[in-house]
Parts: sequence; structure tokens; C-alpha cells
Amino acid sequence: MNTQEIINLTGKYIANTYNRFSIAITKGKGCRVWDADGKEYLDFVAGLAVCNLGHCHPKVVKAIQEQAEKLIHVSNLYHIELQAQLAELLCKNSFAEKAFFCNSGAEANEAAIKLTRKYFKDKGESRFQIITMEKSFHGRTMATLAATGQKKFQQGFEPLLEKFIYVPFDDVDAVARAITTDTAAIMLEPIQGEGGVNIPSDNYLKDLKALCRGKGLLLIFDEVQVGMGRTGKLFAYEHYDVAPDIMTLAKGLAGGVAIGAMLATDEVAKSFVPGTHASTFGGNPLAAAAGIAAIKAVLEEDMLENCRKVGKYLLEKLYTLKAEYPFIKEVRGKGLIIGMELTIPGAGIVKACMEKGLLINCTSDTILRFIPPLVVTEKDVDEMMGILRKQLSAVSYQ
Ligand SMILES: *Cc1c(COP(=O)(O)O)cnc(C)c1O
Repeated sequence: MNTQEIINLTGKYIANTYNRFSIAITKGKGCRVWDADGKEYLDFVAGLAVCNLGHCHPKVVKAIQEQAEKLIHVSNLYHIELQAQLAELLCKNSFAEKAFFCNSGAEANEAAIKLTRKYFKDKGESRFQIITMEKSFHGRTMATLAATGQKKFQQGFEPLLEKFIYVPFDDVDAVARAITTDTAAIMLEPIQGEGGVNIPSDNYLKDLKALCRGKGLLLIFDEVQVGMGRTGKLFAYEHYDVAPDIMTLAKGLAGGVAIGAMLATDEVAKSFVPGTHASTFGGNPLAAAAGIAAIKAVLEEDMLENCRKVGKYLLEKLYTLKAEYPFIKEVRGKGLIIGMELTIPGAGIVKACMEKGLLINCTSDTILRFIPPLVVTEKDVDEMMGILRKQLSAVSYQ
């Protein structure tokens, strides 16, 4: 099918929930993708921070191919070797002691929210309230929508699940003021992704942890976007020298295959007993095989080092643009999640870049987000900068 035929078919049969660009991507390799008409693009979106290893990483492809011939799905009625091995890898490389697998970021957060309720029920404490942050994003299911501190996602779906309260990000005092005897947990992205690549001050997460310890609350980190190497460490919390009680993962976890995971300490995870929570597909052999291959690749192929190095290079390049164009308000990031906040809408720039063969993303209307695969090179960054600079110049002449 050519691009127009795919667009027509989508319009006819797919529920209209997405504002899609007028291209259809049919092939990918590393940091490049190709559309149905054969046009090549340099990809600084990486499937929204999913394809951290680059598209179709050979080790993930091989793991999927081999596992597909052996066993694709079996259900959690039985033991699954690869699921247990993936959990071991995640636990051995993090604070966690137990993992629960599901199929998406929202589901991982649902699991975290349910576990929090159960944990306090088991302790005989009636605490239900979870404090989350303004500009946060935790997913689109009813509970995670309520956790998400952005009205625009909630409109039309009220009444929301009760017991979530929102405070400004990077403001410890605001959290302290919001805590009551009803508060169970503080839940946040260590670095906000969808909300505009918001980086906290150095001590913020540590201070939150101290608050949690003082008041007996759980600390939940949603690392669905920033986990799995995106920030230059395997998990973003490692930058801040603080561990949560629960952490959720999804996007970059299995090299592009749908997966979600909720990790927790034994002390908290023990409240999930048989029958309390489940997922039919969660941690099935195919997804687990992809997950194992993906984590091993991140850890063994110097991807974290590359992420830090090229991330720094990209950040410096974007700073130079800030000096040139008055409509660039701020550039901020860590590793390879970088935001460039504009004083004007970013959609036109994204579209113009796409036409010139570069994929970038715009979030929260005015923030250009750069989330390339972690294998991106300085040469790719130079190429990206060439295209971006031209489009920014075009804007300044308008
Ligand atoms: C993308 C995202 C989610 C939701 O993940 P889905 O797989 O779309 O359900 C949750 N939290 C954060 C931080 C995300 O970036």
C-alpha cells in the first residue's frame, strides 16, 4: 500500500483518537526509519522513548524470532522461565526485590496504585490518598487518568477515581502541606516526560523520601519514560541517590515489544498474594525474551555511556540555538531526554522538520522533545541540527 492508501484505510476503520502526521512508517533500522513511499527519516522520537536500542536491534530481533518458534504464550497459570529471569535481571540492577509484569505503562501504574491500597489495608490503616504532581503523566486508564495532574486528559471522563491530589513538581513544601492522615503515597516521574521534560532540583527526590519515611508513606517512581537508560543511567532515580518503594517501567523495557513492569521491595510486594492482581499476557515468553535481550544490550553495549556522551553533545548544540533564536525560552535535559521550550507553538516546526526527513516531537504545545535511540551518534546530531536550524530560521523570518 502507498501512504495515501494507508491513510484512507486508517480513516475508515481506526477509532479517531490520534492526530497523526500524514506519513506511514513501514521500516526501521537503528536511528533511521522509512515510510511507505520509501522516504528516509532520521528518528529523534524513537517510538516515543520506546526504541531505546534503535529500531530492530539485532539481539532483540533474534530473541523474538527464536522464542516465537518455541513458545509465544502460556498464561500465568504456569511457571515461565524467561519471566523469572527478566525479573531477576531487573531486581539485580535496581533497588527492587519483586516484579509484576503487565503490558503497558498505564497497567504498571494501575498495579502500583492497587498495591499501595492493599499494602495499607493489610497494615490495618485506612489511607487512600495519593499525592501526584501537576504536569504529570501516568496513563489513560481510569485510575492512571486520575493520577495524571493535567485537566486536558481528564476532560470528558469525569467523575474520576477519587483520592488523588496534585501539587506543583519540584516543590517539597507543597507536598508536605498536602499530606494528611489519609495520605498513602507520593507518586511521581523522577523527570517529567510528557509534561515537558521537567528536571527536579538535586535534593528534591531525597527530600520526598525523607518526608515519606517520616510519615510512613510509600514513594512511587513512574520511570515508564525515563527508565531503561534514557537518562544515561539504567534508572533515573540513580542520579539522585534515592530509591523508591515501588517503580514502574514500560516504554523502553523490551526493545519495542509491548510490556510493563511494576517493581517493589519485598516489604511492599508481599501484599500481592494469589488472586489479588493479574494480567493474562503479563510477562509472557515472547515479551520476556525481548525484555531480557533489550536489558542485556543496554548494559553490555556501552549504551549508557553513549547516552551520556551524545546527550551532553546534543544539549550543548541546542544551547547554541537558544543564543540565536529569541523564541527559544529554555533548553533542559538529562542523557537523551531533552526539551527545548519555545515561546511559540512547536507543531509547525515539527511538521517542517518531518518534511525534511527529521522526526522530532512536540509536547505540551510549546516544548520540542528530543528522545532519540540511545545508540544515536554525534554525526546524527549534526545532521539533525542542520535540518532543525533551517526550520527555526524559517520561523524567524515569518
Ligand atoms: C507513556 C507513559 C505512561 C503510559 O504508558 P502507556 O504504555 O501508554 O500506558 C505512563 N507514565 C509515563 C511517565 C509515561 O511516559
